[in-house]
Amino acid sequence: MSGQTLTTEVVIIGAGPCGLFQVFELGLLGIGAHLVDSLQHPGGQCSELYPEKPIYDIPALPVCGAQELVDRLMKQIEPFHPTFHLGQEVIEFARQENGRFHVRTTTGTTFDAGAVVIAAGVGSFQPRRIGIDGSEVFEGASLHYRVKSSSSLHGQHLVIFGGGDSALDWTLELLSKARSLTLVHRRPEYRAAPASVAKMQEHVAAGRMRMFEALPHSFIVDNGALRGVNIKTRDGTMHALPADQLLVFFGLHPKLGPIAEWGLELEKKALKVDTEKFQTSLPGVYAVGDINTYPGKKKLILSGFHEAALAAFAIQHHLYPQKKQFLQYTTTSPIMHQRLGVPD
Ligand SMILES: Cc1cc2nc3c(=O)[nH]c(=O)nc-3n(C[C@H](O)[C@H](O)[C@H](O)COP(=O)(O)OP(=O)(O)OC[C@H]3O[C@@H](n4cnc5c(N)ncnc54)[C@H](O)[C@@H]3O)c2cc1C
Repeated sequence: MSGQTLTTEVVIIGAGPCGLFQVFELGLLGIGAHLVDSLQHPGGQCSELYPEKPIYDIPALPVCGAQELVDRLMKQIEPFHPTFHLGQEVIEFARQENGRFHVRTTTGTTFDAGAVVIAAGVGSFQPRRIGIDGSEVFEGASLHYRVKSSSSLHGQHLVIFGGGDSALDWTLELLSKARSLTLVHRRPEYRAAPASVAKMQEHVAAGRMRMFEALPHSFIVDNGALRGVNIKTRDGTMHALPADQLLVFFGLHPKLGPIAEWGLELEKKALKVDTEKFQTSLPGVYAVGDINTYPGKKKLILSGFHEAALAAFAIQHHLYPQKKQFLQYTTTSPIMHQRLGVPD
């Protein structure tokens, strides 16, 4: 969505576990939120870094898979219908004269928000780059870190780098549509699903595609246009691979990114907050989860959940200072039941 400004009570930057639970705590107080995440899916580190690992320290859940936790949080916030803006990074943030906040993302989505919660964890996940000098000039044209439109790759000579699920899935998907396809991975072991690896190896054995164990070395360029890539195997042999398009899937790594430039007080790359409101140095801007710091901070999911609860009350007071605040139990409160969609 671009071109139009969305007016909202709260924008939450980051849809990791703490950003998701922030939606819940705000929802209980009758406050709506939009969530932005640079990833294409919610869940932050849990979904991106260790989806299949079990977590043992979520209260009342003796063991819970990391992706399962995210799925449960998504279910828990369903009654509050948050709007997700995924695959976009928040790059612009400014306090306006009227005390509200202007927030803008890489895809042009713009918000006018009464309060902002930064739940950005260890930063926004960015693709690991190919590591060849001058690669930026080809990005988006003939060098890709994610596939936006697969049809634009049909009928072309493709070189795909990587050994994880993205690299193998796209190899199998594009093989029959590409003019030629070469997969390059730095080592014999793959992180991708064994069934995909076996299928790819069948295609190599049948001569339908090529596979190299090598690293990218340099671009082959003619008149400013990318014509291919030179790769280097472990024994130092160079191979020149002609290519129209390079697809690089080296995984993602977190980067604090623009948040560090918004003038908020930082300590060791984390946002300083108080422990009553979890407010940053700028009133109306809160930080919960791994991104914040305060005396005794522990980067645990349960800490972020507690922070989100207190931040929600502070946000309610910030947005509606006249409103009296009550602590209501979800067990017995009719208004909470109404908000949760629970029949009384
Ligand atoms: C291997 C591993 C095991 C772990 N095990 C446990 C455990 O057993 N128990 C436990 O409590 N914790 C555990 N943790 C830590 C736990 O995952 C983190 O504490 C938790 O994910 C923090 O949640 P968060 O919502 O604050 O941030 P994150 O999960 O980091 O999510 C932040 C999100 O914000 C997004 N973002 C950042 N900047 C921007 C921006 N500018 N624009 C748009 N989006 C942005 C990111 O893309 C990301 O999705 C583990 C961590 C790892 C790596």
